[in-house]
Amino acid sequence: MEIKFLGGAREVGRAAIAVKTGKTQILLDYGVMLNHTPGFPMHVPPREVDAIVATHSHLDHSGAIPIFHISEPKPVYGTNLNLELTSLLIKDFIHLSSYYLPYEYIELNAMIRSHKNVNYREEVRVGDIRFMLLNSGHLPGGASVLLEAEGKRILYTSDFNTIETRLLPKADQNYGELDAVIIESTYADEDHTERRVLEEKFINEVIDVVESGGTVLIPAFSVGRAQEIACILAAHHFEYPVVIDGMAREASRILMGHLEFLRDPRLFMDAIHMVGWVEDWRERKRVAKRPGVIIAPAGMLKGGPATYYIQIVGKKSRNAIFLVGYQIPGTPGRELMEKGRCVIDGKVRKIKARIGFFDFSSHCGASELKETIRGLRGKPIVFTIHGAEGNCQKFAKWIKDEVGLEAKAPNPGETFTI
Ligand SMILES: [Zn+2]
Ligand SMILES: [Zn+2]
Repeated sequence: MEIKFLGGAREVGRAAIAVKTGKTQILLDYGVMLNHTPGFPMHVPPREVDAIVATHSHLDHSGAIPIFHISEPKPVYGTNLNLELTSLLIKDFIHLSSYYLPYEYIELNAMIRSHKNVNYREEVRVGDIRFMLLNSGHLPGGASVLLEAEGKRILYTSDFNTIETRLLPKADQNYGELDAVIIESTYADEDHTERRVLEEKFINEVIDVVESGGTVLIPAFSVGRAQEIACILAAHHFEYPVVIDGMAREASRILMGHLEFLRDPRLFMDAIHMVGWVEDWRERKRVAKRPGVIIAPAGMLKGGPATYYIQIVGKKSRNAIFLVGYQIPGTPGRELMEKGRCVIDGKVRKIKARIGFFDFSSHCGASELKETIRGLRGKPIVFTIHGAEGNCQKFAKWIKDEVGLEAKAPNPGETFTI
């Protein structure tokens, strides 16, 4: 069986892997690179692809899948929740694209019609390849993939988290014996602060600001992070006003229809009942000026209602802006973190509000990645992907030196036979 890395090799973005036997070829993810202009994985002729497995809705894994629906239907396998969230994000991606995209709404709709719903641990057969999805603990409806063909077993972790969060259960790691493993390397050289400690610090600082009469703006990604923050506030019985705005409302509505994917549906519904939903401009103007918490996308301040709120909330020193996710270099969020200023609509704005960063990641940290490697059964070859600047190479070296497994950080376009 052949594995070809079409994208996401030695980089974060445009994740795409082709798995091919003598008779069948399936793709694991087909994402985009979100730069100034979007980048795509290497091309595969659609007629040579039998199916696509979609692991989760982040555009760096899903954003290029509709390319396969330009001329013919192509089955896309994933959980039903993943399909709904992916559709929401791709719709927004098309809507906001000021540059050329190789597909439109019509292809997105063809993708939705070609979707095949799969439950976790349900076995699927495509040609002579069998696979199943396992909960990855990374995003609602997200999955790792266990794949079997020609007597070999392969694991693709996709993005995963082996630590439970308020929103999601931890990844299902019951992988069995393996011949090859494709693993993410996002945080291979960095540990996250322990969740309990981080939550405590976050809650205390939020309360501090609100009790001094301030407003806390929390720019957060619409799918997952926004709801995680609401759940953290609910779990700590936060008693001041909290509102949620923008696409995060839509994503929350979708999750309400799929509570079985969440770790604690009761806590999630408590959070939903606790938050107010900002539905119009009058409300938006009102909440920006009263003590409380505002959860609004975009997480890195690239558009969305957060860019409105920051102009109001940012003006006063009693207020705060708390970033709760990774900030890609070059984004307004990163600029805010590093220089205390923000460029919105081409205008530089000095921010007087307190700025904080809380690393509520949904990826494994270095310790969890290493634990995963040490826990593997069999003698698999390990491919390290989805890492920035040298991370994939360093992680592969660690696997070889410390665990004694064969390990490679593939180059884009590289093919291996298992
Ligand atoms: Zn992801
Ligand atoms: Zn990713």
